[in-house]
Order: sequence, then C-alpha cells, then structure tokens
Amino acid sequence: MVVCYPPEAIPPLDAAVVTAARVSMIKVDEVFVPAREAVTFEVPGGAIFRIVSVEGPQVGDLNLFHAHDLTEHFWSGKTRAMHGTHVSTGDRVWSTVPHLRPLATITDDTLDWYGYDADGGGVHDVIGTRCDPYTQHLLTGTDYHHCCHSNLTRAVAGHTGRPEREVELLIHDVMNVFMCTGFTRDTHQYFMKASPVRPGDHLEFLAEVDLLGALSACPGGDCGDEHSSDVAACHPLVVEIYETSQVEGWESATASGYRWPT
Ligand SMILES: [Zn+2]
Repeated sequence: MVVCYPPEAIPPLDAAVVTAARVSMIKVDEVFVPAREAVTFEVPGGAIFRIVSVEGPQVGDLNLFHAHDLTEHFWSGKTRAMHGTHVSTGDRVWSTVPHLRPLATITDDTLDWYGYDADGGGVHDVIGTRCDPYTQHLLTGTDYHHCCHSNLTRAVAGHTGRPEREVELLIHDVMNVFMCTGFTRDTHQYFMKASPVRPGDHLEFLAEVDLLGALSACPGGDCGDEHSSDVAACHPLVVEIYETSQVEGWESATASGYRWPT
C-alpha cells in the first residue's frame, strides 16, 4: 500500500512566513454569521482570518473562492486526497483546475487535540458536501429553505448581485468547520456526532490569494442529531479578519504551471 500523495511531496507554506504573519496580526474586522444563515467576507492575500465559535456549539459550512474569479474555488476532493479526511494546522485549501493552488493554509486549530476518536470520527471534515434542499426533498418530501446550500447561495448572490439560480452552480462542497464526522467502520457510511467545539474555539487560515469566503451557520447546530430543520439548537458564528504587516518572503500563491500540449 502506498499513500497516493506523500505529505513530503506537497509544498508546505514556509513556517517562518506563518510565524511572522501570526506575530504581526491585528484584528481589523469582524463578521457576524446569524444562526441558520450565511454571510460572505473578503480577505486580502497575506491576511489571516479566523472562524470563531460564540455562544454555543455550532458547525460552519465554508466555501472559499478566488475573489477575482469565482469559478476558481475550494476543491474538496483534491484537498481530501492530499491531506486526509479531516484537516488541521499546516494543511492547505486547494483550488479547482486549471489553477490548483493553495487558496489558504490552516495556521491554527484549537480543536487539534481531538485527533481521531474510537469511532474514527474527526473534526473539520472535507468528506461531506453541505446540507441541501434537493436531498432534503428527496429523502423527506419536505421543502426546507435554510439548508447550508441555500444559505450560501443567497449570501453569494447578495454579494455579487447575480441571480440565485445562476450563483447556486458556483456553490461547492464545503469544509465542514468544527463538524465531527467519519465513516462507519463496517459499512463506511458517512456519520456525524455532536461537535466538541465550544465558545472560544477557532480555526485560523492565512489567505494565499485574495479571497471571497462564504460561511453558513448550519441548521444542524452541533450536528449531533439532525440537520436541515428548525429543531436543532443553533448558534451564530463569527469570522475575524486580521491584517498582517509586510511579511518578508510571503508571495501570493501562483496557479499551476501545467500547460496542455499544443
Ligand atoms: Zn448544513
């Protein structure tokens, strides 16, 4: 057996750059994400952002786009293939082809102590998709309008001024921030359990390009029971944006050098 993408072959972000950025970080903005809603936020390349738990245990569904071209966005599948089913400090958030570059690097994670539990569950997965009204309708016959897919669509449509029908095609498989998930050992089915996140916990990223983010405070709350309903206890989330002073050695991530044969 071989690891498909050996970790030592994946270019890391320079540790000195991360340290210099973190030492100089100063909070310049804060974005409030109401329970069962999504909001967008912008982060310039070289800046840091944190997703912060406030008020109570809550999962966040994160989409990340290149701020100047929304067709380049987070590629969940390739990020999973490179770093594993769950991500933490040092892992990078890769973008779609033809760009395939790191959109961001995770620089701090207060839930890294969780690791993998006895059921194989871990935190911050890149194996889920996002709760969406189509699957909800398929499985239950009911229409629910505050699924993460719907919330993210509305938020990005509001930001861009483009119609929701058009924008929803840009909404992509999320990073499930703070969510505790895994695959059952016997049947390898996707499971979730109550998130260990508590107010004060955060997941921190260094933006490697100019970013547009969208974050939904999932209607599943801590996702310990159900999602896509108004039953679960839900809480807001906060996104904190930090400026970093001129960090020597930091450069915006460049797109893939691959060229098709002519
Ligand atoms: Zn959700």
